[in-house]
Amino acid sequence: MSLNRAAKENLVRALAVSVIEHADELTSLDQAIGDGDHGLNMKRGFEAVLATLPGLADKSLPEMLRTIGTTLVMKVGGASGPLVGTFFIELGKAVPEQPTRSDLVGATGKAIESVKARGRSEAGQKTLLDVLVPVQAIFAAGADAEAIAAEAAKAAVRTTPMLATRGRASFLGERSIGHMDPGSRSASLLIGAAVATLTIEAGL
Ligand code: ADP
Ligand code: MG
Repeated sequence: MSLNRAAKENLVRALAVSVIEHADELTSLDQAIGDGDHGLNMKRGFEAVLATLPGLADKSLPEMLRTIGTTLVMKVGGASGPLVGTFFIELGKAVPEQPTRSDLVGATGKAIESVKARGRSEAGQKTLLDVLVPVQAIFAAGADAEAIAAEAAKAAVRTTPMLATRGRASFLGERSIGHMDPGSRSASLLIGAAVATLTIEAGL
């Protein structure tokens, strides 16, 4: 997969717009089982990323991903900032300039392991890992772009009946059940945007 400057810029814009346009929805999800800041946190972070364009897209793919990650760590805040930021930083460290599909599978796997270490968390605890882990599994198994996007959306919905045992929602105990995890929803939006853009730009 080779992304030229314009393709990289389109990818970054699509990622940013996906969460910025859904900030209100992410806020209401976080109002139900958290402190209501997830929409604003993500919007602030991705607006900061957008502000680094167009120069950001001149960087190599690995460097661009690492820069997105450090910007998110600095600007998003909350529990999600370091986690989403870590994902992009580690993805940037693991991915070559022109990754093959199998390079991307390996790199996303490593980035997810770093998120787990950072959050001291794993899938099953009603966090963004409940989207990242199953989506990466079907990606590794050869799923096409459409199936990946569909799985991301479904995985976020599957967090609704789960009991939260990590993050702020875990303070609610049983009352965390019955609401979609906000971080899972934002992760599904980002994956949907990435897959849609990469399909157009790089024939994922
Ligand atoms: P905060 O919880 O500090 O207000 P946000 O509202 O921005 O931060 O983000 C909340 C989201 O972060 C949750 O919905 C969840 O998906 C994710 N999250 C929180 N703690 C963890 C953790 N330890 N591991 C993985 N994800 C987590
Ligand atoms: Mg919050």
